[in-house]
Amino acid sequence: MTPRLSNQIVNYDGSITTTPKQLVSPQSVEEIQAILRDSKTYPSPVRAKGSYHSLTPCVSTDGVIIDMSKMTKVIRIDKANNRFTAQAGLQVIEASKALRAQGLQFMLNIEIGNMTLGSAACCHTKDALDGIEFGQVCSYVTGIKWVTPSGDLMEASETTNPDLLPYARSSYGLAGVIYEVTFRVKPVEALHFTYTPRPFDQLTQAEVDDYLDNSEGLICWTVDRTCVFQQRRRVADPGILGSLEAAARRRLWNFGDAYAGHLIDEFLKNKDLRNAVQQGGFDFTNFLYSTLHLFGGITLLAPDKTIDYRSTPDCAKYAFTFWAFPRSQWLDTMRAYLDFAEAHFKSTGFRCNMPLGSYHVRKDTNSVLSYTRDYEVFSIDPIHSPTDLNAWQNFLKAFNDFSFQRNGKPLLNQSPFVERKHVEAAYGQQWQDLVKWVRTMDPAGRMLNPFFAELTGAA
Ligand SMILES: Cc1cc2nc3c(=O)[nH]c(=O)nc-3n(C[C@H](O)[C@H](O)[C@H](O)COP(=O)(O)OP(=O)(O)OC[C@H]3O[C@@H](n4cnc5c(N)ncnc54)[C@H](O)[C@@H]3O)c2cc1C
Repeated sequence: MTPRLSNQIVNYDGSITTTPKQLVSPQSVEEIQAILRDSKTYPSPVRAKGSYHSLTPCVSTDGVIIDMSKMTKVIRIDKANNRFTAQAGLQVIEASKALRAQGLQFMLNIEIGNMTLGSAACCHTKDALDGIEFGQVCSYVTGIKWVTPSGDLMEASETTNPDLLPYARSSYGLAGVIYEVTFRVKPVEALHFTYTPRPFDQLTQAEVDDYLDNSEGLICWTVDRTCVFQQRRRVADPGILGSLEAAARRRLWNFGDAYAGHLIDEFLKNKDLRNAVQQGGFDFTNFLYSTLHLFGGITLLAPDKTIDYRSTPDCAKYAFTFWAFPRSQWLDTMRAYLDFAEAHFKSTGFRCNMPLGSYHVRKDTNSVLSYTRDYEVFSIDPIHSPTDLNAWQNFLKAFNDFSFQRNGKPLLNQSPFVERKHVEAAYGQQWQDLVKWVRTMDPAGRMLNPFFAELTGAA
């Protein structure tokens, strides 16, 4: 366990930098225990780090960061019971490969392949397309083992301390460091996606409800004022073009849209020209969606939805924010959002350069901090490939105000600039319950960095 020379860490999109006193990469549970027990050598706050694909400073600390990238072993694939167990530092893309070799897949094949399993177990990660039953990844986590802030071992699973599982699933590393995770999995499935473009101004709530009620899983992409409803349907086999279509889709996500948006913003300094070319880009994206609609959509194997962002160049990276709204309120909120975004563009010259996503996530009471405990949600997720970080961050703060006023629910690591007032209003008693449990797990605040100290009211 030799501390590295340079401790500086930057998150995926480059918006957050942190320099802990110690950056350690344990290779065993005993090493994690030793770190947490020795607060003199390893000063608080201690934070566990996966890939730091989070968009808030949830990992940042001037104490110790425990980098989980050396704990990546697959421990058990139980085909008979559809269970997968691995160490918490393993990334989803690698776990998915191990599962696929056995003809298995995750219940939710999320797009972000570089998320670690430890983070998947205790954060708000979601997928709308595979969310037939539940859309939150932690709901399919059936066992979590962790080292507590005082260095002891603890476990919550369907059979051991099951009452703690909903808390552990929302713990964000505040109850200690997760070292092993078990997921429910299933045999690999083929999926067909259709794309239905609709002018936003013609949409009615009844039509939106119809799409939502009649989809196994759905994301709506909004480009300019056109909404494209991407719906998923399970099929028997992906056909001969399946892997080709999956590769083209991955390439587009990993490079296409974000790269084009970035180039336009970077090189076209004349405002009118930039706006005109950007508009052309939106028209082209809508043309692509219409073409997909015309050809009936695409078919692929579900694990092929997952994208590996490890070698994405900075110029093709994108960032986003996520706020969830009751599905019954979505159309009105979107109408207000489009007006807000247009007014923001007129007054500041900034607009997002990628399609806006809306994720449909079903009711789910499996975690204490579930954002769909009381109702289904349909989100509003502006997505952007930033060249001017300041302009993007000003937009994010204005969008937070907009969403807070409309009773939206933010996510603690996917809604940049989330504040205590947002979390308290959105989660109410659920938040108080989690904070109370975290205090019993960590009375000395060993894991409490400034970000979580502010959110939990301990600052
Ligand atoms: C390009 C891109 C695409 C994305 N797509 C999606 C998407 O489709 N769906 C979605 O929901 N999210 C998405 N995200 C958000 C991202 O996946 C989540 O924020 C995810 O939780 C990050 O995982 P990570 O391993 O990088 O965790 P980190 O960012 O490293 O950590 C997140 C939190 O988990 C804690 N943590 C991490 N590991 C452990 C551990 N072993 N023990 C205890 N606590 C731990 C950390 O302390 C921190 O609080 C995307 C992000 C990017 C940048």
